[in-house]
Amino acid sequence: MGGVAILGSTGSIGQSTLDVIRRHPDRFHVEALAADRNDGRLLEQCLEFRPAIAAMASPEAANRLEGALRRHGLATRVVSGRDGLLEAAACAGAGQVMAAIVGAAGLEPTLAAARSGKRVLLANKESLVCAGRLLVDAVAASGAELVPIDSEHNAVFQCMPQPVHIGTRSPGVRRIVLTASGGPFRRTPAEALERVTAEQAVAHPNWRMGRKISVDSATLMNKGLELIEACLLFGVGPERVDVVVHPQSVVHSMVEYADGSVLAQLGNPDMRTPIAHALGWPERIESGVESLDLIAVGQLAFEAPDMERFPCLRLAREAAEAGGTAPAALNAANEVAVEAFLGGRLNFTGIAKVIDSVLQRHDVRPVTSLEEAFAADRRAREAARRALDEREAVSS
Ligand code: NDP
Repeated sequence: MGGVAILGSTGSIGQSTLDVIRRHPDRFHVEALAADRNDGRLLEQCLEFRPAIAAMASPEAANRLEGALRRHGLATRVVSGRDGLLEAAACAGAGQVMAAIVGAAGLEPTLAAARSGKRVLLANKESLVCAGRLLVDAVAASGAELVPIDSEHNAVFQCMPQPVHIGTRSPGVRRIVLTASGGPFRRTPAEALERVTAEQAVAHPNWRMGRKISVDSATLMNKGLELIEACLLFGVGPERVDVVVHPQSVVHSMVEYADGSVLAQLGNPDMRTPIAHALGWPERIESGVESLDLIAVGQLAFEAPDMERFPCLRLAREAAEAGGTAPAALNAANEVAVEAFLGGRLNFTGIAKVIDSVLQRHDVRPVTSLEEAFAADRRAREAARRALDEREAVSS
């Protein structure tokens, strides 16, 4: 039985992972679970899956969990804070680690899992966007495996010649085509984008996801971040990654080869498919996802993304071309801008303007350590907050 550690087990990806594992009691056991502060849900998960380790970033939540576990007579060891998360990520009993903590907090535990030679199932975007080269190098140095979970990169991984050498371009690959649903504002005129609300932005047409990633889908920044990730994962330059809008979200992405062949991966939009693919790989295992009904889908449509209405995609491409700390700065500025939008401080079209102003002033440096990645993240956050203040000063 393969031991699995799930970092971010209480979130959307974490719960889908447990749903797949629940279907395979003879194949997998849960060795470690980790979350931030939702001790109630982590307790339920511990009672069902009985892990050896439960990690909570919040020490108060860890104390509550510890008390509750003792009352239930469970022997699970509770650890907390940064060290606790790192222990869960590198624990000896897990061969596979699902890296599904949201945000920059996921960076260090993901690197720790890679450095200890695990199979890393990578959902956390920040690890690649902010410190991609470090992660790819750590995977190569320790002999770890990396299987991407994001549906687009998982699709590309499936369409690549096997085995995939992470960070190295496979021979014969001409181009990668990432598909984008186009989000809720695909048909919204430019003038109307000024006034769209946060509630409209988070209502994604095809996928159910957290609020931040839903806004990123609406601005197409999510696709921009995925473009950066694709370059790092598959060892190609940004000029070899195209984005097409595909409103049905049935084709999850494609790889074009030198001979003109295009391989695509299709399926219902349900994250349990890439999760089951990664957990079982190279075998195929049951995920609980229904068969794709192509007759019901009827048509598969494709169109070019509108870079005028959705400038975030252009900004991400520019950051990918600049390399070094530029993607980390883009990501940090975007996080600040999206938070301001969700909090009613910034309108939808202001998100790209704030990011643009941060990138224009960002001094690109190489990323050779985690500290440099974090420093670039901090500088960009401060610059984004200043840009927000300046906008408010002008409009008041
Ligand atoms: P959620 O917000 O649903 O869950 C986030 C998880 O991270 C929770 O378990 C949360 O714990 C935990 N967490 C947050 N902060 C910390 C911290 N400081 N230390 C430890 N744990 C922390 O996110 P998703 O599951 O939607 O996404 C997870 C990652 O996967 C993100 O990076 C996202 O971009 C990526 N992703 C998600 C997709 C999706 O379909 N949802 C698709 C592709 C990628 P708690 O509950 O205690 O707060």
